[in-house]
Amino acid sequence: MSVLTTIEYPPCHKAKSAPQQWDAEFESVFRLRGTFSITTARGYFNACLMEERHEPEHDSTLQEYAFLKKQLCGLQRNVSARAISFISSEGFATKWLAASVKKRAKHALAGMAGACAISPNLNKARLSCSKELRVKYLSENGQAVLDLLNAIAPADLSEIPSEPQYIANDDWDKLHVAHQDTADEIEKLVLNSILVLRNKLITHTLDFIMDSFLGHELPVVPVYKTRHVQSDTPNQMTELTKAAMVAKYGKEEYDRVMAENEAAFRERKANKVNACEGCGREGGKRETFKRCAACWKISRQVLYCSKECQVKDWKAGHKLMCGKALDFDTAAMLSTLVPKASNPSGFPPPAPGFKRSLELLSQMDWLMNYPDYDYAVKRSVYERNEHTGLMTYNDPKAKARFRKHREKAMTTGNPMSVALMLEYILWDFEVRKSQDFRRDMVVDQLSREYNIPIKDLEELLEYLGGLRAECGLPALAYSDGDLEDKEEI
Ligand SMILES: [Zn+2]
Ligand SMILES: [Zn+2]
Repeated sequence: MSVLTTIEYPPCHKAKSAPQQWDAEFESVFRLRGTFSITTARGYFNACLMEERHEPEHDSTLQEYAFLKKQLCGLQRNVSARAISFISSEGFATKWLAASVKKRAKHALAGMAGACAISPNLNKARLSCSKELRVKYLSENGQAVLDLLNAIAPADLSEIPSEPQYIANDDWDKLHVAHQDTADEIEKLVLNSILVLRNKLITHTLDFIMDSFLGHELPVVPVYKTRHVQSDTPNQMTELTKAAMVAKYGKEEYDRVMAENEAAFRERKANKVNACEGCGREGGKRETFKRCAACWKISRQVLYCSKECQVKDWKAGHKLMCGKALDFDTAAMLSTLVPKASNPSGFPPPAPGFKRSLELLSQMDWLMNYPDYDYAVKRSVYERNEHTGLMTYNDPKAKARFRKHREKAMTTGNPMSVALMLEYILWDFEVRKSQDFRRDMVVDQLSREYNIPIKDLEELLEYLGGLRAECGLPALAYSDGDLEDKEEI
């Protein structure tokens, strides 16, 4: 029985040379229905499992997993930061929603092809994205891309998170639950590697979609050298696939495909860089990094750009794996060891279950850069001014109360805290008698930041107004803290 011969998907190089044909071939794979459907998570998982059991380089696969997971955390943070800047400075979200399905489809395809062309393992990972990475899914409803961008955003942009954001997917989540207690090392590795690659591919795709849509040049993504050690044992799987391909397509077609592969491989090789394990810095073409000697003895290549980086990395966790064969749990643990931010945002992490939106992360970014200010009011709050306004309260009591609500809102998304904060902001504009101020835009902004429907916020504002009247307080009095205490009810 050979599971793998049933997986025929378009090769990586085709994504670049013939994206439309490449996509059509993937679509036909996704539509494949039979006794063994590889479009299901289980089929793909089993195929990868089988492949991994034939893989002679278990240690380097584990190392690669740790590396990829760490890399994914940084990638998600960077792409989220780019998304925020594209949304605020180039109006990405508004333009994307307003674009025609046809236009979105064009850029969705460019995004997927660009991301899959980065490396063969990412191209293959598209098989694990049979829901998300489809032109139809990404283009018919413009919100899909925006939702995915929100889904990959970490909780705080000021530091690299130690765990990636995994996009929810019924099939994968079920599979994960079913296997979470497995004692099988290879099963654990495969299950988690698929999750990392799946999310990495989606993240790269989103990045490429934004650039393609906004007319930027598509980024050249470096391919990191992780597997360096060539094994003498031929990979049985490669042999198996080769025999199957020659039998099916004939020698001539097989040779043609191999030649194309070779060309694509050379192109990717040109993008290859060494990365320092300590600081993550990429080495230039001619720059040579030093290897860890103890690891090299067991044929593992770990590179450092300097003695300082080696010392730093040793303390940060390398000592746990140095010169020793890895197991899955150590690899998983190593992937979570990331350096602390030199300039943390100062905001507490979100409470379990509360997912910060990109808009909220952008707000936090403003407040981190302008810590003396209390809130950034963005986007056409003034009819004739598109700039962001930074608000501050001079009265220390008012400031402290506002910040109390702000902290609760930012860590829990509590609608009442958001409404109280909103009242303060609206009151502030009222007091200043801002002529061209647009109340609806402020409500809209907070509604998006905290994912609370505008209708709900308006209801809460009304409720608070009612409470204030009951207490005999003037409509917008904040010199007195009585009302805020009611929030706790
Ligand atoms: Zn370094
Ligand atoms: Zn070492």
